[in-house]
Amino acid sequence: MTVTIAIDGPAGSGKSSVSKQAARALGYGYLDTGAAYRALAWHVLARGTGAAQDTADETAVVAAASDFPYAISLDPDDYWVRVGDADVTAAIREPRVTDAISDLARVPAVREQVNALFRRLVRESGRPGVVVEGRDITTVVAPDAPVRILLTAAPEVRAARRSAELSAHDADAVAAALHRRDAADSTVVDFLTAADGVTVVDSTELDFTQTVEAVLDVISAVALTAQENPDGR
Ligand code: C5P
Repeated sequence: MTVTIAIDGPAGSGKSSVSKQAARALGYGYLDTGAAYRALAWHVLARGTGAAQDTADETAVVAAASDFPYAISLDPDDYWVRVGDADVTAAIREPRVTDAISDLARVPAVREQVNALFRRLVRESGRPGVVVEGRDITTVVAPDAPVRILLTAAPEVRAARRSAELSAHDADAVAAALHRRDAADSTVVDFLTAADGVTVVDSTELDFTQTVEAVLDVISAVALTAQENPDGR
């Protein structure tokens, strides 16, 4: 049995880098679920005309999701994403791909296919545990995970972190794009409020190392409780 550590949060909350570092510390795998939505958008654009209307065609999107030759590395020290023979690790971060995601992420049939893919990747990981990060991991993909965390940060802090990552971009434009994406995403899944049993880690006042420590503390608190109450009582 592979242990799932479920971590959700909005863009710029630091969840990718924090989840990756927590996975390293635990000797676990790391699964970035956003990459599958990105790669599927890339795939739909590659199969179609490459224009924005490709992802608006729901039938084409569902067809692409059901025949999706997707592979992702779960190694936190060797991250790559492939669609068929194509290494799309860098291409899926391009703005034309990011802009196309929300069209397909809101289609329930697509989410079901992608969620089944995530559960299979964890099951077949061959690792003692996998840190799975996304938007609906604590609520939909792995609601029974022993550790479920919502990583948040104030919107202005998230925007500042994002623009520091993409130093060539104007900070206001980054903030506007981030808020647009939050608004589109939150119509599909609520990743801003913690569901029952989900622990909130607010990183607004924490640096990277402190955030990783806060996440590892939540994980070890659960492990300790499990040892004290082996029957879950
Ligand atoms: O995490 P990342 O920013 O790479 O995710 C890209 C997009 O994929 C999100 O903006 C969201 O629309 C979608 N997504 C999702 N559910 C997830 C992960 C990502 O809908 N579990």
